[in-house]
Amino acid sequence: MAVWKWREKQQDGQPETHLGFSPPTPTLSDMKWWVKWWRWDPNVGKFTVGDTVGVGCIVGCCGNCRPCKSDVEQYCNKKIWFVVKIPEGMSPEQAAPLLCAGVTVYSPLNHFGLKQSGLRGGILGLGGVGHMGVKIAKSMGHHVTVISSSDKKRVEALDHLGADDYLVSSDATRMQELADSLDYIIDTVPVFHPLEPYLSLLKLDGKLILMGVINTPLQFLSPVVMLGRKTITGSFIGSMKETEDVLEFCKEKDLTSMIEVVNMDYINTAFERLEKNDVRYRFVVDVAGSKLSP
Ligand SMILES: [Zn+2]
Repeated sequence: MAVWKWREKQQDGQPETHLGFSPPTPTLSDMKWWVKWWRWDPNVGKFTVGDTVGVGCIVGCCGNCRPCKSDVEQYCNKKIWFVVKIPEGMSPEQAAPLLCAGVTVYSPLNHFGLKQSGLRGGILGLGGVGHMGVKIAKSMGHHVTVISSSDKKRVEALDHLGADDYLVSSDATRMQELADSLDYIIDTVPVFHPLEPYLSLLKLDGKLILMGVINTPLQFLSPVVMLGRKTITGSFIGSMKETEDVLEFCKEKDLTSMIEVVNMDYINTAFERLEKNDVRYRFVVDVAGSKLSP
């Protein structure tokens, strides 16, 4: 939806860079238009006709600025359109969540040198990004603890997603037990929350990686990061190179995401359900199956 919204803004003559995480509910006609646009103007480049390609949440870059020249074009503030090739044998509906949630988790693990097996990671918040976090970190051979504010997702995390441990943040005894035990925490919580309880779970040099867009200042006491040389950082989606890498990685590891495939005529219901957090864990809109006229 970030792609769609940005295009809408640009059409009005007001290009705008934003995180695109609060999409308005699009109408069916808007979505049709977007699909047609791709058919009219395929920017093929290194791709050949007939390739299955994907459009991630990063839609393009200028190619000239410092982030672009350093393969971190997700931090470029100019946009041009581009696509990524879906590996042979990977279904497009499986690729779709990897282009956004998948690469969003993969990028910081890659950038901060957290891909080697044996690490102990925490996933704070089990939504779309969190569920990919569990799967990708597990595939890298990490010991993964899902951290949540309630017990509600315990079975889901342990039995369905394959997490190793489940920690309820209000359980003081277990929080104490797991203090100083994690190499990193991927924090996907998009609302204000105290950081200190989670920082205390990190080992020496551990990293708290923020991914939720929070518009309220966060607070922490400096000794909590000083004692243990801990890092609070953030990360925003991923580069095209990382998008290609995560697709290859998931294909190699036979990693699948949990998705619900819907047709275009379901889109408004899907958005209503999204607002209620009622999806496990991503809706994928089947454009071809929706039999829209081009
Ligand atoms: Zn650029």
